Amino acid sequence: MKDGTPPRTEEPYPSYLSPKLAIQPCHDGRGTGVYAAEPIEKGELLAVWGGRIIDRASVAKLAPAERRYVLQVGDDRYLASLDHVDPPDYINHCCHPNGGLRGEDQLVAMRKIAVGEEVSFDYATTDSCSLLEFACECPKRSCRRRVSADDWRRADVQARNRGYFSPYLQRRIDALKRVVRGGVATDGARVAFRQSDR
Ligand SMILES: [Zn+2]
Repeated sequence: MKDGTPPRTEEPYPSYLSPKLAIQPCHDGRGTGVYAAEPIEKGELLAVWGGRIIDRASVAKLAPAERRYVLQVGDDRYLASLDHVDPPDYINHCCHPNGGLRGEDQLVAMRKIAVGEEVSFDYATTDSCSLLEFACECPKRSCRRRVSADDWRRADVQARNRGYFSPYLQRRIDALKRVVRGGVATDGARVAFRQSDR
């Protein structure tokens, strides 16, 4: 090959989007989203992210547009679709979402989802990296306006997404609560919230 570019290979982790979902222009005119084309029950599998595993240093080298499609799956592990956009990558963040994580790469419905509703999840349940922070303009009253690397520490985020955090973040939350119970205080939620005010 003249320019030495390696041939494109299949992603080691193929993605999946439920056939009950459709990729559409967002109803508010901002970009593209994933919408329910059929009713969905609580607990149903919505998507499995695919891609390649890269580290933080590799994320830092990506263009901002490419970083939008990176999903953090561990302390220094990120799942990225590097040369294309996978269908699950179109699932947008919402500060009051209807989807939540199962394992580190699956999205399930946190409640019933009606036809025409946009499917979403809180990116703070997967991402804790400053490279992946962004401003949010979701229409929810609880919108945080900015989704930050430390949002997983917030009591309101923990309460809204209880049981639906990526496993590596759930381990951090559990560790934080153990520290709190170890004598500093008894109200884990309040302390977690205070630590987010840095
Ligand atoms: Zn928001």
